[in-house]
Amino acid sequence: MKKLLKKLSNAPGVSGFEDEVRELIFKELDGFVDEIKIDEMGNLIAIKNGKPEGKKIMLAAHMDEIGLMVRYIDEKGFIKFSKIGGINDQMLLNQDVYIQTPNGDVNGVIGSKPPHKMKKSEKNKVFEYDKMSIDIGAESRKQAQEMVRVGDPIIIKQEFDDLGKSLVKGKALDNRVGCAVLIEVLKQVDSKATIYGVGTVQEEVGLKGAKTSAFSINPDMALALDVTIAGDHPGIKEEEAPSKLGQGPTIVLVDASGDGIITHPTVKKLLLSVAQEENIPYQLEVSEGGTTDGTAIHLTRQGIPTGVISPASRYIHTPVSVVNLEDIENTVKLILAVLKKF
Ligand code: ZN
Repeated sequence: MKKLLKKLSNAPGVSGFEDEVRELIFKELDGFVDEIKIDEMGNLIAIKNGKPEGKKIMLAAHMDEIGLMVRYIDEKGFIKFSKIGGINDQMLLNQDVYIQTPNGDVNGVIGSKPPHKMKKSEKNKVFEYDKMSIDIGAESRKQAQEMVRVGDPIIIKQEFDDLGKSLVKGKALDNRVGCAVLIEVLKQVDSKATIYGVGTVQEEVGLKGAKTSAFSINPDMALALDVTIAGDHPGIKEEEAPSKLGQGPTIVLVDASGDGIITHPTVKKLLLSVAQEENIPYQLEVSEGGTTDGTAIHLTRQGIPTGVISPASRYIHTPVSVVNLEDIENTVKLILAVLKKF
């Protein structure tokens, strides 16, 4: 699991540019499922056939990650960028980045004025992203234009690694954790239902791939696989985010104060009863902010009973997200046991 998660986390996949992640999932699943398709939007749909009379179950894990994009190249050859997805400006300053281009990756750094030259008032201020530039070492606009193009995606460099005994850190654990769960479940699943495992595109910018793939699959039930916010570290109150690392997958009951999903009662009952029967640790969540692919899926066609299962992650939407591997193993266990019920 750790090896798989490492490959997935290190791969670049800014929304709309999920190609490398999709290829990784394709390679992992090839030979383990009955069919793999890539649809018009770029979603990967892996199908594992069950019995002809069985139900259709959709599992969705978004492949994309938040990132940046080249917006403008100034006359000196510095890059102005746009944010893709929910990014806090404070985490961007002085990051090491690379820009993906058709001719290969181009290194860059998000520079800033040295502290020596800052006024006291400047030092205490949050620097906004549109005041930052990426230095790619170009000497002119012309030279920079030969290296990168407007529209190229930009990734923050951060290698996957261990953190203590059972934790790992990586740049895109939201949602390569869900992708790893999806892969492991499809490899091991034993069910009468036909399983549609979907790696969705563009979740971070409006749940887009989930919307179109759920429409084409039209499943009887769906589960979104993602990560949720852990509240077990300094700087956040436990009551704001009660999920903790190492205490099992979080079963989401409500997200975005009900504007996102209110988990279908049948799905809720099924998930809780299976977790209890199988003695799999789990946590429950009613959250006020953030949502997942489950929101788009459950409003498809005439409505699709949908649930969300998300291991907790510290520091999501930063390049240093942290998860517990045991939580991921327990997520796989829970989903396999649920699918066996069909
Ligand atoms: Zn996510």
